[in-house]
Amino acid sequence: MTTTAGIDLGALDVDSAAGHEVAEKRAEESRVDFDRVKALRLKAEETVFVRFLNDFDKHSGPLSSWITVRVHKYHATKEKPEDRKGNWPSNMDAVCRNDKIFKNLKFGSWSGKPEHSACYLCDMGEGRATDVTWALVALLEPVEDEKGKLIGLKTAMKDVQRGEKGKTEVVTVQDIRLLTMGWSNFFSDIAALADMNETVLNYDLKIRRKGSGRNDTEYKFSPVAPRTVKVDGENVLLDLRDKALMDRFFPEVPNLLGLIVERATEQYYDRWFIPGRDGFESDEEESEGRVSTKPATPAPNNDRDPERMDALRRRALGESYDSDEESASEEPASTLRSL
Ligand SMILES: [Zn+2]
Repeated sequence: MTTTAGIDLGALDVDSAAGHEVAEKRAEESRVDFDRVKALRLKAEETVFVRFLNDFDKHSGPLSSWITVRVHKYHATKEKPEDRKGNWPSNMDAVCRNDKIFKNLKFGSWSGKPEHSACYLCDMGEGRATDVTWALVALLEPVEDEKGKLIGLKTAMKDVQRGEKGKTEVVTVQDIRLLTMGWSNFFSDIAALADMNETVLNYDLKIRRKGSGRNDTEYKFSPVAPRTVKVDGENVLLDLRDKALMDRFFPEVPNLLGLIVERATEQYYDRWFIPGRDGFESDEEESEGRVSTKPATPAPNNDRDPERMDALRRRALGESYDSDEESASEEPASTLRSL
């Protein structure tokens, strides 16, 4: 049947729209966030358990180590453009385009004028960029026995939407978070622990935040007992310096350098900070601030090869993560004790 407008109704993909089950599935999907790497932020008196995925030393671990770059923290965004729908964040973190890490890329002046540097926010002179250390962690959740006693930890999972707009599917993935914190009030204490142990990759870490104000916030870190996992029927220590274990238990760790670069691109600055510029893809919806503007970049094995990021992302988006096979053998530690 053809409508008066000349559209063939027989060509519609009615299966994707018909019936109550589709309605319910669509409602569920719309409640699930797109696959983005969220920041790990602790509220006052909150405690979390994490496993670091990037090591403290640059020669250690299969992925890149912790990375420190200058960040314009919580910088006020420009006014919401009139044609934008949805939420508009009042502030965003931006990686400073004048940071040393970009030296070889020779970014030009943001305005094209020689009196300007590569960084719009530096030139505007509001809010100095400060050094921030970046690392990825897997969020862990406590495992309790029938009596509610803590007996171990396992990787936390979350549902996300993946795929192109209009063709998404909901998949369950590991809840991997981005830590962006200062050295003196956060990372230096973890480095001290890691130094004793020569790595931060072979134990889980309990992090507790005390206080909420600028001057009374304090973070406490305690390592948790080494965790064993089952590999081919044998119990082995979950030491993520071992690439095979990293690949097996954390197969989709985003590329840390990629996440940093995404927050330093011209497009990112145009989008959030420079008035009169757009920076959005034409069909892109942006409703969530303070997190990655792109899907997570799964790059399990080629952390040092950003050129292959896109290919990997495409490949990973076409595959759903089979959590059963990979995680079923991950067993909680039998006891928790300090190292
Ligand atoms: Zn800057």
